[in-house]
Amino acid sequence: MRATKAIIHLDRFCRNMQGVRERIGPKPRICVPVKADAYGHGAVRIAGAALEAGAGFLAVATVGEGAELRNAGIGAPILLLSLPLPEELPEVVSLGLIPLVSDRDFIREAAGAAQKAGKPLEVHLKIDTGMGRLGCSPGEAPELAGCIVREKYLRLGGTATHLAVSDSSAPADRAYTKEQIARFREGVEGIRRAGFEPGIVHGANSGGVVFHEDSWFDMVRPGILLYGYSPGPGTPEVTPVMELRTRVSCIKPVKKGETVSYGRTWTAPQDTMIAILPVGYGDGLSRGLGGNFSVTIRGRRCPLVGRICMDQCMVDLGPEPEIRRWEEVTVFGPETLTAADMAAVLGTIPYEITCNINKRVPRIYLGS
Ligand SMILES: *Cc1c(COP(=O)(O)O)cnc(C)c1O
Repeated sequence: MRATKAIIHLDRFCRNMQGVRERIGPKPRICVPVKADAYGHGAVRIAGAALEAGAGFLAVATVGEGAELRNAGIGAPILLLSLPLPEELPEVVSLGLIPLVSDRDFIREAAGAAQKAGKPLEVHLKIDTGMGRLGCSPGEAPELAGCIVREKYLRLGGTATHLAVSDSSAPADRAYTKEQIARFREGVEGIRRAGFEPGIVHGANSGGVVFHEDSWFDMVRPGILLYGYSPGPGTPEVTPVMELRTRVSCIKPVKKGETVSYGRTWTAPQDTMIAILPVGYGDGLSRGLGGNFSVTIRGRRCPLVGRICMDQCMVDLGPEPEIRRWEEVTVFGPETLTAADMAAVLGTIPYEITCNINKRVPRIYLGS
């Protein structure tokens, strides 16, 4: 196996699940988003661990992601969070994915596909309460619920919304989320008043789980929290599930004044030893980290120097390192700088860091 690998600690994932369960109490179901290959952690293994730890639902973004889970023998309910094309609907029906619907045309298309297959399709109605993405207005919800219920081959299994700033502690954002939740309630009540059953009501992402108890309803959909990153300050204890490791390929001396890597952006300030690591942007390690981040070797922080290449990068070990060739290197992980620290350097979020670790990097599962 190659030196560079992502260690996925399933035991930590399960502990994070337990943390969410303790927080929300026994009633709400937990839907685990495993889109984008479970935020880079591996959808099939994470789905298995999630279901074992008590998840009631999974969620994916694409039909292909749903197919991967079904092909692995996973029979649990799977929400389809993004809208498929009409021509993908036969597969949605055959796989038994649960699309989020929010307009009459699509409801009709979905009903047509289900009828054609002779197989009923469960859908959830998505209400846009202020995310500004998919969803009908709260006012349209009762009418659309009626459209779904009147379709013989469709079943209204749930009603959902999505929160835009639930992870923010700024007072204006807290107020905005309260408003979103109020609008959602209005939509759901409207559905009931019109005489329809809204099914499983759900709206909480990680920020909702942590900061907005009134967004929990019948089911929560925390992603980043389960993968071990705090959605904001004052979050309960969670541990990052992914760790990116590699090993030292080579150590060599560089003289004061010599330069390292493309563009010659780094000049050795003194005679020093450079370690070459077999990981680069071709693995999803952002090129923007060159000169701005440190990896950990034998408990020591070693700065990345010079530009990150496609397959390799370099760190400065200092003039007299005890570090030896082939030693283990932690690029990010819970015991040292995490994907969240890396994200802060790059001006992004940990989601993007773990998602970007690509398929060239083998995943090693521990603690299952
Ligand atoms: C991705 C996603 C989530 C999970 O969001 P986190 O911020 O990771 O908790 C929940 N709901 C929807 C609709 C999503 O797309």
